Amino acid sequence: MGVYHRYTTIDRGSRKDAGTTWQGGRSVNPSRNQHTIAVSCEIRGRGYWSGREVEVMIHPAPVGTGVRLVRSDLPSQPHCDAVVRYRHDANLRTNLAQGKATFQMVEHLMAALAALEIDNCVCEINAEELPALDGSSLGFVEQLSSAGLIVQAAPMKQLVIRDRYRIGTMDGWVEATPAHAGESYFEYQLSFDDETPIAPQAFGIELTPDRFIREVAPARTFVTKAQADQIRASGLASHVTNQDLLVIGYDGPVENQYRFKNECARHKTLDLIGDLALAGVELIGRFTSFRGGHNLNGKLAHQLAELAAREPAETHSTFQQRRKAS
Ligand SMILES: [Zn+2]
Repeated sequence: MGVYHRYTTIDRGSRKDAGTTWQGGRSVNPSRNQHTIAVSCEIRGRGYWSGREVEVMIHPAPVGTGVRLVRSDLPSQPHCDAVVRYRHDANLRTNLAQGKATFQMVEHLMAALAALEIDNCVCEINAEELPALDGSSLGFVEQLSSAGLIVQAAPMKQLVIRDRYRIGTMDGWVEATPAHAGESYFEYQLSFDDETPIAPQAFGIELTPDRFIREVAPARTFVTKAQADQIRASGLASHVTNQDLLVIGYDGPVENQYRFKNECARHKTLDLIGDLALAGVELIGRFTSFRGGHNLNGKLAHQLAELAAREPAETHSTFQQRRKAS
């Protein structure tokens, strides 16, 4: 896939610098405008746990919508905003529920939207569980990036991390620390216990849309062979083959191949990006996880959302002043 083309169309009233194209680095603007997609796009696949065929239709949405998930299969079409307040703990995935609008395994879609800087969209989903695809975010980023991006006439709210926040224990933690130069940096340090075929590994990335597409989006969900045997023995996910995710044995992936030597750490980084996206703001800082998972990510997302709520006006008013001055 080529370079992710940003700013396909530009809304009236957007900032004069909003027409620049992506050049591989972080945006030159300390605070950027909100974005939506230019046209609707569609992603289909089966859920890992349910095995159900599911269709996701993603539509453009106005400023301030955020990411809204709609259960298009239910009569009242209930919706849930993809924010941490509606997050529910689940084993091996991140779920959301707002009344009857329940969704499972939202993290790979959320990572794709956050990394591609798609702030506003409505996702109509005709089942509870999102499609697993190949266990990565690749299917989502392919459709979303070809849909193109619209710059909208309002600033995106940012949270700039100014202190160190760590959640967890010595055995597993996730933390946010200030950025060196206005970047969004995500890192995962993987180190499982002795009885595992997955070697210690790490991955870190300064997040840009292009780098996410190349280096993170293709990294797939993984389980050890022992975990897979256990899940299959309990009658779950019987339709999932060894090609639908990475099943890792002592000789490497079973009937499959790694896309990256450290694909597991990259996938954990993908999950971290998707889970922290539920904070609902653009995150400027360094986010590191050591042996963490969805549960710790969710706790940090809560804390980040609280921090963002405490400083609501700063970015916006600064932006307005700058607009008046220009
Ligand atoms: Zn994942």
